[in-house]
Amino acid sequence: MEKISPPLKLPEDSVVHYYDPNDTFLYFESFAPFLDIEESLKLIKEHFEILADYTYCDIAVAGFLPIVIDWNLAKRIYITGDEYKWNWSELLLKNTQTLNLNIYYVDNDYRKYRLRFDLFNERYQKICKNLYNFNNKFKYSDLEECFIYQWKLLRIAPSFIEVEITTQMNVHPLIYPYKENYVMMNRDQFIKILDDLNEFGIRKSMHLSFAGAGDPLLHQDFGFFLEASIKSGLFEVIYIETFGDNLTEDKVKILEKYNDYLILIIKIPTLSESLYEELMGKNVLGQIKENLKKIPETLKVYAEILRIKQVEEELDLFFDFFKNTSIQPIIGKYNSYGDLLPDFRAIDLEPFEKDYCRNLMFSLFITSDFRVPICRQDIACKFSNFFLKEYTIKQIYENLYKYHINFINKKYDEIIPICSVCKDWYVFLG
Ligand code: SF4
Repeated sequence: MEKISPPLKLPEDSVVHYYDPNDTFLYFESFAPFLDIEESLKLIKEHFEILADYTYCDIAVAGFLPIVIDWNLAKRIYITGDEYKWNWSELLLKNTQTLNLNIYYVDNDYRKYRLRFDLFNERYQKICKNLYNFNNKFKYSDLEECFIYQWKLLRIAPSFIEVEITTQMNVHPLIYPYKENYVMMNRDQFIKILDDLNEFGIRKSMHLSFAGAGDPLLHQDFGFFLEASIKSGLFEVIYIETFGDNLTEDKVKILEKYNDYLILIIKIPTLSESLYEELMGKNVLGQIKENLKKIPETLKVYAEILRIKQVEEELDLFFDFFKNTSIQPIIGKYNSYGDLLPDFRAIDLEPFEKDYCRNLMFSLFITSDFRVPICRQDIACKFSNFFLKEYTIKQIYENLYKYHINFINKKYDEIIPICSVCKDWYVFLG
């Protein structure tokens, strides 16, 4: 390795002309205080030995190793605008046939935890500070101990907050949770949620989801909730899950105003009118298709079909339907919420060993009647739960830690009754 270019502020038009052809780039998504020098040198050496274009380690947690990029790859990247964003994943996906991609291996594989140890956002800055105070020479090999004994250093705040602002919906589905009584969260309750979340002291480091057993677009104060959430500065991304039949022009206008933050997920279990009626209790598919035509390209919209037995044959058709649109089709995993819904799963993807539940660690579900169950799988709040009027979210989140210990010790029955048979612990949210 002759020369490694420093991470300079790059010129507006292009990176190409300013570097020597012998350059090799080390790319970091963020500042990495725990960079493992020893392991990084091995990775860089391997990159040169096998003449790779791009060497990365998809096993290691972010923050310990760099990505190494050859000049030949870097020169394909043109950067415009004031900020440069190196969208490597997109570039690599488009060029997998022509590039020599090298995956570097380390022991152990911690991907399931979906954490990072760099200064990517305020959550990880706080976690890095905790780790540094714990051991200022922290190395990748020290992580194992951390994931066994030091979870309190890592579990500093929830990362995925799902709020059911209403239980109202225009359909009566078989395949999604349905609550008989319509309950609407009020503005004061929602503001308390934001105030409580603010207590964790991390900004732009949580994901908010307007979902649950209702269609958030049916709440008359939806615009208020959305605006308050964005103004709070707490969230990196806001998801909105809707059935799409109420995606009227005025709703679209509200969404467009905040499109930098939003991801809209439209739940469309089938494109067949008769099957839609069978699965959703009412046929509003015609209305949904009309609404889809009016969605502006600026909105990030996903159309989600579920992997259930009834639509296995339809998956290709579903993807074809959205081919020339800005809407991205996706396949969602069917969730029966324990025994709340029939088991319509087409396939069982549950990993062999039930060893870590991210839902329990980092997700919180808040019902429209202001309750927080132990786990979001108890969407109907049938089991033990907390009334948010009596506690802060921080108190609840701290209290829930003991269930994580139960999970590690495989005492599922001491969490909630459906825990031992739950197949949704590996579904990652936020
Ligand atoms: S295993 Fe399932 S029921 Fe148990 S805590 Fe995790 S998501 Fe909840």
